Amino acid sequence: MNGPGRRPQTTIFTTMSALAQRHDAVNLGQGFPDESGPAHIIEAAATAMREGRNQYPPLAGIPELRQAITAHQQHWYGLAPDPDEGVTVTAGATEAITAAMLALVDPGDEVIALEPSYDSYKAAVTMAGGTLVPVRLDAPAFRLDTARLAAAVTERTKVLLINSPHNPTGTVLHRAELEAIAALAVERDLLVVTDEVYEHLVFDGREHVPLASLPGMWDRTVSIGSAGKTFSVTGWKIGWATGPADLIARVKDVKQWLSFASGTPFQYGIATALASGEEFYRDYIAGYQERRDLMVAGLRGIGFDVYEPEGTYFVTTSVAPFGYEDGMRFCLELPERCGVVAIPTQVFYLGEQEARPEVRFAFCKQLEVIEEGLKRLGAGL
Ligand code: PMP
Ligand code: GLN
Repeated sequence: MNGPGRRPQTTIFTTMSALAQRHDAVNLGQGFPDESGPAHIIEAAATAMREGRNQYPPLAGIPELRQAITAHQQHWYGLAPDPDEGVTVTAGATEAITAAMLALVDPGDEVIALEPSYDSYKAAVTMAGGTLVPVRLDAPAFRLDTARLAAAVTERTKVLLINSPHNPTGTVLHRAELEAIAALAVERDLLVVTDEVYEHLVFDGREHVPLASLPGMWDRTVSIGSAGKTFSVTGWKIGWATGPADLIARVKDVKQWLSFASGTPFQYGIATALASGEEFYRDYIAGYQERRDLMVAGLRGIGFDVYEPEGTYFVTTSVAPFGYEDGMRFCLELPERCGVVAIPTQVFYLGEQEARPEVRFAFCKQLEVIEEGLKRLGAGL
């Protein structure tokens, strides 16, 4: 692996965003909004910078942000993590995921995750010396088969790594599915790490239910959030982990050797952001609902098989109607053929070399950009 001949490894997002630039393509691949984030949040960070808040924050994050995270969870979910002992700010959700895996997983342990799963999960579990055990969500509905989940638990299972709303399928786990996960965790005495970075992105009036809010779950659950998604500032890399003091202490023990701390002025910005009124969140969901509807209808009109997402800012499709069984080949050809970039979801499976017909489009883009992408796809396919 190491040595002068070693080629750098890149994520699919880096590869596809580079292709987008090379072909001047509409980038519906990597999930980042093409707007700069709400003005009042940017102003709060800029003010903090001007006021000289530019040195290291405490390891767990500035108190104002930890308190805002607690107040947010209390307001939306009735949860009350202790802002001193039960909250740590991280360098994006990515660091929270990695720190949680390094903290909770020992060599030889198994971690069960929904498949497809966000690409950093496998890397984080592997770095911890554990093994990721996938539990497949099947097309077309991508629902959780709770019997399959239970059957995946072995003597070596340490953690259930759950993600809802789910990247890339857009599945939002229903209360019954979450209750089954909770019952299993209690019965088999498992820890749960739940990635809820898309907590505010649920459509058609659906409800996001945090796993930590279910009976028996608080003491065994680390919940992960990210400001990048909700406030359209992915480049700020402010995330967090919340939970009981003992689990968060273990996450912090690891985090101090990863980043130690990050982004003081951004933390002030996000403390302001989290205090936004309900109207902000309502407008946010309404804006994304419009974009989801446009994207789903547009892709269907062009001939994709579309799996309508319940949440997130991604839509998974099948490109089989265009004669492709291999979504990777489709995505590699797409920039030149249509001037559009998308993500082949086979990279979110353990057998990532295996061809699959599913392709993910991101709709966290302005309406005109989505329309342009759809126009190009319609003309080129
Ligand atoms: N988890 C999921 C499911 C994601 O989709 C992403 C980013 N797209 C992350 C974690 C990482 O979040 P962050 O950018 O805050 O590190
Ligand atoms: N999470 C983003 C996505 O799923 C990408 C983040 C990254 O580039 N690593 O598109």
